[in-house]
Amino acid sequence: MIPLSQPSITERERLLVSDAMAAGWISGTGPAIKRFENDLANKLGRKHAVAVTNGTVALELVLKMLGIKEGDEVIVPALTFVAPAAAVRSVGARPVFVDISPETWTIDPLVTSHAITGRTKAIIAVDLLGHPADYAWLETILQMRIHRQPITIIEDAAQAHGSTYFRTNRQPAGALAEIATMSFHANKAVTTGEGGAVLCDSPECAKYIRLLANHGMTSDRPYYHEIVATNNRMTNLTAAVGVAQVERWNELTHARQRVAEAYDERLQPLFESGILQRRPVAQWAKESCWLYTVASTHRREYLDALRAKDIDARALWTVLPDLPPYKQPGLFDVAREVSNTAFWLPTWAHMPLETIDFICEVLHVVSEKLKPIPTTS
Ligand SMILES: *Cc1c(COP(=O)(O)O)cnc(C)c1O
Repeated sequence: MIPLSQPSITERERLLVSDAMAAGWISGTGPAIKRFENDLANKLGRKHAVAVTNGTVALELVLKMLGIKEGDEVIVPALTFVAPAAAVRSVGARPVFVDISPETWTIDPLVTSHAITGRTKAIIAVDLLGHPADYAWLETILQMRIHRQPITIIEDAAQAHGSTYFRTNRQPAGALAEIATMSFHANKAVTTGEGGAVLCDSPECAKYIRLLANHGMTSDRPYYHEIVATNNRMTNLTAAVGVAQVERWNELTHARQRVAEAYDERLQPLFESGILQRRPVAQWAKESCWLYTVASTHRREYLDALRAKDIDARALWTVLPDLPPYKQPGLFDVAREVSNTAFWLPTWAHMPLETIDFICEVLHVVSEKLKPIPTTS
């Protein structure tokens, strides 16, 4: 079986975890957590990183910090992993779905501008499949709107470790909005198994997220609970894995990039013939490869053939407004088209070239069969 993804764990991760174990630092306090937070913030050029249990919780805490609650609306792209929409619902607010742009497959700023109402409190812009959303344009539409309540842009960079946005200064994903969240789930490019972080530059923001993740108390005043809050701390064992993975950040993200280049090279003839499409990349972005993504109106045939060879390729998510708990009428043309045609090919750091050869060979064979037979007159 060729899996869709697998983590890259080395001696370094094992050593740091075993050090943490030996020192007895196994809960939500300890030196690895501080170090992971510092290293991560430095890597992304942010002042603060707060480590939490996972990327979904990171989003929930940000929404709580912003005071978002029942009656409020948060704009979310119609096509993404479900976490942003679930986080909005978990604080009692309503996700308002908007279509994605055909050039980037990320939230469409123009459509977003039409979705803003007097109840809109935030926009969760997802850097979908390793491509940054267009933050400069999102800021512009916020300046031009009629409704004047504060609206915060939240960057969900869970799938974008290592991607870069060029429209403003050259900036890494995770540093593209006032507040950003990341996930370190096992299938992400940099992982702690389960894990997440909130990234921001304001000390008040970092402090409040820490309160929310730590029973509403600070370490200098134990058992004095300033606000209602539960426990969402990352453990020191998990953070030890994170320290090693952040040290390996460039190696891990570049290795995935090389996988994408290998796929590109082998699939170029299919892209040129138009039978298969590659995920688009805007000129102002450098994508990072999370899972290598292609699209075809013949997805069924490709996936069947790949499965027959025990290759775990998968169709993309269903558009969120089509799911029973998130039903919302609307067209969402681009999101639907991508959702109905796109699929992931197995992707992990240091994936052997022979595995990529094997997968691409299957895609080539299917494409040969699909090519219309020229009719002779
Ligand atoms: C993975 C992911 C998250 C967070 O997932 P967790 O498994 O909770 O860490 C959030 N948003 C997006 C877009 C994701 O892909």
